[in-house]
Amino acid sequence: MRTKIVAGNWKMNKTYKETKALVKELDHSIKDVTLSNTRVIIAPTFVNLQKASKMTRKSVIEVAAQNMHQLDSGAYTGEVSAPMIKAVHVNVVILGHSERREYFGETDALLAQKVDAALKNDLEVIFCFGEVLEDRKSGNHFKVVERQIKNALFHLDSEDWSKIILAYEPVWAIGTGETASPDQAQEMHAFIRELVAERYLSDVAEEVSILYGGSVKPGNAQEIFSKTDVDGGLIGGAALKVDDFMSIIKAI
Ligand code: PEP
Repeated sequence: MRTKIVAGNWKMNKTYKETKALVKELDHSIKDVTLSNTRVIIAPTFVNLQKASKMTRKSVIEVAAQNMHQLDSGAYTGEVSAPMIKAVHVNVVILGHSERREYFGETDALLAQKVDAALKNDLEVIFCFGEVLEDRKSGNHFKVVERQIKNALFHLDSEDWSKIILAYEPVWAIGTGETASPDQAQEMHAFIRELVAERYLSDVAEEVSILYGGSVKPGNAQEIFSKTDVDGGLIGGAALKVDDFMSIIKAI
């Protein structure tokens, strides 16, 4: 059975003190929820990773990094590497978020290197991809998503895929309040699963969790999560409010 996942991407939000408060509240609230075959992941900023990791050591909540450098160490001012993330007991990293692609120029080729570095260091990867509005309008969305996945992930071996979580995030739906309809999400997720099945064995495709991201809120989560090929969500804005994030977790 595929694992369901609700992951919160906190982006560049929450100071140290605010991180402590939010983790504490989440951990408290989640104790009342029965999670069956479901993982809950939060991704605070780098400076707060160690604290969040320590605070959740005995919790069902897992912690992820939002990015990492492709090399293990060196003269790369301002960067953070996979071994540094692992050293604070964080085992998951988000790679390829559209904000990294758009504002920091991350290409498919660079992401392929980052994926390799993450796997080499035994980090699980939440790999994000998705089309911009013009691609959707011109009907190129399948082609774009296919290219992003092929270029960054299709050099991997079948066994590597146990460490890959896919996150389809149409860029036009991120932080805009606009969501892909549940049918649009299902259509793309089924396409992605088929793509993986064609390249690898069908059990790789059947096992990989594919999350949807883009303005998931308490009001639309249940309908989106009800779709066959949607295995959970990558949540931005709504992950910063305990009540909203908990409602989304309960909707899975
Ligand atoms: C995201 O940034 O991954 C995201 C899905 O953001 P939001 O939920 O705010 O659209």
